[in-house]
Amino acid sequence: DRHPEPQFEPDPTKKTLVILGTGWGSVALLKKLDTENYNVVVVSPRNYFLFTPLLPSCTTGTIEHRSIMEPVRAILRHKKAAVKFYEAEASSIDPDRKVIKVVDNSEIKGATSETEIPYDMLVIGVGAENATFGIPGVREHSCFLKEIGDAQQIRKKIMDCVETAAFKGQTSEEIDRLMHMVVVGGGPTGVEFAGELQDFFEEDIKKLVPEISPRFKVTLIEALPNVLPSFSKQLIDYTENTLREEKIDIKTKTMVKNVTETTVEAEVSRPDGGKERVVIPYGLLVWATGNAVRPIIKDLMTKIPAQKDSRRGLAVNEYLVVQGTRDIWAIGDCAVAGYAPTAQVASQEGNFLGRLFNNMAKTENHESRIQELSSKMNLQSGNSAEAAQEIEGLEKQLRRIKDIKPFRYSHQGSLAYIGSEKAVADVSWWNGNLATGGSMTYLFWRSAYLSMCFSTRNRVLVILDWLKSKAFGRDVSRE
Ligand code: FAD
Ligand code: NAD
Repeated sequence: DRHPEPQFEPDPTKKTLVILGTGWGSVALLKKLDTENYNVVVVSPRNYFLFTPLLPSCTTGTIEHRSIMEPVRAILRHKKAAVKFYEAEASSIDPDRKVIKVVDNSEIKGATSETEIPYDMLVIGVGAENATFGIPGVREHSCFLKEIGDAQQIRKKIMDCVETAAFKGQTSEEIDRLMHMVVVGGGPTGVEFAGELQDFFEEDIKKLVPEISPRFKVTLIEALPNVLPSFSKQLIDYTENTLREEKIDIKTKTMVKNVTETTVEAEVSRPDGGKERVVIPYGLLVWATGNAVRPIIKDLMTKIPAQKDSRRGLAVNEYLVVQGTRDIWAIGDCAVAGYAPTAQVASQEGNFLGRLFNNMAKTENHESRIQELSSKMNLQSGNSAEAAQEIEGLEKQLRRIKDIKPFRYSHQGSLAYIGSEKAVADVSWWNGNLATGGSMTYLFWRSAYLSMCFSTRNRVLVILDWLKSKAFGRDVSRE
């Protein structure tokens, strides 16, 4: 199955379809798309797909980062017709001229590192960036958890904090600070990371540095009254109780207002309605307060009058067409279609567009064939019965193809790992809802994520990583 990548030769009779991004949305589209119908061009600064649900496990080395990456060129190699891939960032979109500007921002640049790409059809799947709400110090001092590089940085920093705390003659106050791991944001990202971190401590760090291990502490800070706001009440309670049992300190109704190199400053809402300012020293700070709109999307929104009231991303219609444009579609976290910014939504949207574009190409093929047959029928009378029959058949198929239902999201449920081999799940079950938490749910979580992994290769690597860290402990060398 290791045949070379098919050669890409743009066909002037076909439309050029440009796809931005190699995340959940764009890759689902690419998987579904019959690439032979278009000249397909993919532009993304990341030459791989990233399975984000297991990213929190990479921060502690439970899973190695390469196990959840799939090279985009390996994905494209399996397509029937060649697809062009450019590792670059789209820096602006001109909907009037129908071109995008792209820039190679990677370390190595050639003589050309900036160019334009024209499109007939454009799909935007660039995702979102990390929200900081303009809070001072966040960008400079904290780690995010969105990309592979973030997980690697966190992994290094955890061990750096521990090794520095263990340094000869370290002061007691400094040991407490360095061993304090603070997570801001009690959404699924923050909760899963806090759980993984506490596991790492219990299963590995404790044994390796017993003399300072009692000082290790994880604090989860959330502005709202509870963590996991999008889950059901029962699971929120279960999660909070489990995290407390794991000795994670949960500080709800606490909003971080400022970050320095060694402290976070937060405002706590007291039960009497008053506010209190607290200063929390930290060694590692992980910032997980959700999504913000990328600059390229903000810029495009200013160019489209119909987008002027949209705040959280590109408003799309029920066929995922960007409102106020023609020939531009948006999917995933950069699109506002009325659903949560999740991988589940992004991949269903990508899949929908794949089917839509396949149908559009079929429609065009059928229509031109019908036209061809009709003009033949007008010219010559022989064989016209046969042609008429073919036209009838084609028209019947056309009606079926053209009857494309608008995009509807089908929610398969929410899952989150909460540490100590426990997970929570809110799943739809025979029209009812099942909210479960615990060790069985953890096994369900593991098998569900495993089955969702991109490739068999990824699946095998993840299983091996799980076995490896169970058998030998996590690798604590600081690369
Ligand atoms: P992304 O997957 O973020 O992909 C965006 C792509 O666009 C990337 O390839 C990026 O490199 C590229 N790009 C960026 N800028 C440009 C540019 N200017 N030009 C071209 N390309 C660009 N969701 C779930 O449903 N279940 C989960 O369990 C889950 N776990 C998560 C865990 C973590 C730690 C995180 C961070 C998220 C998790 N999510 C989960 C959310 C999910 O990952 C996102 O909703 C999903 O990735 C959105 O898909 P997307 O295609 O819109 O964007
Ligand atoms: P989120 O938006 O779900 O949660 C961010 C949290 O940070 C919110 O609860 C918010 O109140 C809090 N917050 C914001 N500012 C704050 C401040 N200054 N101080 C303290 N708290 C503050 O973000 P996320 O967890 O990164 O998730 C992003 C998206 O990805 C969501 O749609 C989520 O469902 C999805 N996701 C899903 C999973 C999963 O299903 N297992 C895992 C990770 C992410």
